[in-house]
Amino acid sequence: MRMYDIINKKKHGIVLTQEEMAFWVQGFAEGNISDYQAAALLMAIYFQGLSIDETSSLTSSMIDSGETIDLSRVPGIKGDKHSTGGVGDKTTLVLAPLLASMGITVAKMSGRGLGHTGGTLDKLESIPGFQVDLSPEEFMKQVENIGVAIVGQTRNLVPADKKIYALRDVTATVDSVPLIAASVMSKKLAAGADIIVLDVKFGSGAFMKTRPEAENLARMMVDIGKKKGKKMAAILTGMETPLGYAVGNALEVKEAIHVLQGEGPQDLRELSVYLTGITLWLAGKVSDAAKGRVQAEKHLDDGSALEKFRELIAAQHGNPQVIYDESLFPEGKFRYSLLADQDGYLGSMDTEGIGLAAMKLGAGRSKKEDLIDPAAGIIFYKKTGDRIRKGETIAMLHGNNEEQIDEVRDFLKKSLTLQQEAKAIPSLIDDLVII
Ligand code: URA
Repeated sequence: MRMYDIINKKKHGIVLTQEEMAFWVQGFAEGNISDYQAAALLMAIYFQGLSIDETSSLTSSMIDSGETIDLSRVPGIKGDKHSTGGVGDKTTLVLAPLLASMGITVAKMSGRGLGHTGGTLDKLESIPGFQVDLSPEEFMKQVENIGVAIVGQTRNLVPADKKIYALRDVTATVDSVPLIAASVMSKKLAAGADIIVLDVKFGSGAFMKTRPEAENLARMMVDIGKKKGKKMAAILTGMETPLGYAVGNALEVKEAIHVLQGEGPQDLRELSVYLTGITLWLAGKVSDAAKGRVQAEKHLDDGSALEKFRELIAAQHGNPQVIYDESLFPEGKFRYSLLADQDGYLGSMDTEGIGLAAMKLGAGRSKKEDLIDPAAGIIFYKKTGDRIRKGETIAMLHGNNEEQIDEVRDFLKKSLTLQQEAKAIPSLIDDLVII
């Protein structure tokens, strides 16, 4: 088999066999296929697309490039959730302890933030002492003992994805639906859960800018998971505004704790109980997702999910007192408010712009190597549709690096539109559940 022939086939839109997929993925992961040939194939895939069978073969070949997590020694049903990424998306911090408090085991591998989107690991590390790098043995023990762990991806989980993603990043081939589907699903499948629930986001702050693109991606990922025998569901959710009011690591953990205390922003609570309801239904613990959602609300309101979060923090060497005393979180040395310069209503929020403003304050990374300031970020006082009076605070900027503050404030201001008429608030959760 020759890489040249594989590239040439895909260039002409011919379907690749499983053997051809395995040949190039393995060859590239092991360093036997050059970057230029792999890049040419990625571009051919970008333009010609992949069928569901081809995407499934690509996913399997990527999984085979490294180790997989065997959760069979952990009794009970194992659930996982994946969000395609957004701004202010701290749902995992609520969902993981909530599911665990309801008897679904969550052995979760999460990622770090890059660019305008945040990452669960960075958020958790804003809790003093919290460790995301557990040994495989510690990880499994914790999952067995308390039913939940959230760690970084092990180095050898889908190594082919790391190499392919790095090449996609520099060859303008990231935004290909089959390549995203294979990248996400290879990591989810290698992590070993029985149930995978996907939150596919669309809108200004998401990877997928439109609903049809998001639906296409969601369907492909669900099909791949089902082919591998997993129980799958995907929902589509809007990313036209940040989720909740907080953007930035410590600020977001505090907001997630408010939801675990039975309070907090309605949109974050709504999304968390909705996803939990679907997971409980897939697990066969309730006869429909609506019943699961009611149970999830109870577990938020009676403190059992919060207690599970306390156990999770303590098990991963963090200070569990943070859930009773917010002053234990890192605080920025400055707070600057963004004031409204006229009366009106908050119209659109450019969520990608908001994520970039938070990144410039230190809450995110523009390059993988950048250091995070856990205290930095933005708290919104107003969201789309809210009435605003001249001089009122729209948002508060938190951080430690004052050098760029005027520039960031201007940047944030440009991401928000004030208008004279109230705008209809876009609904967060689309009615479609793909199973
Ligand atoms: N997230 C991933 O893990 N992979 C992609 O290709 C895009 C988003």
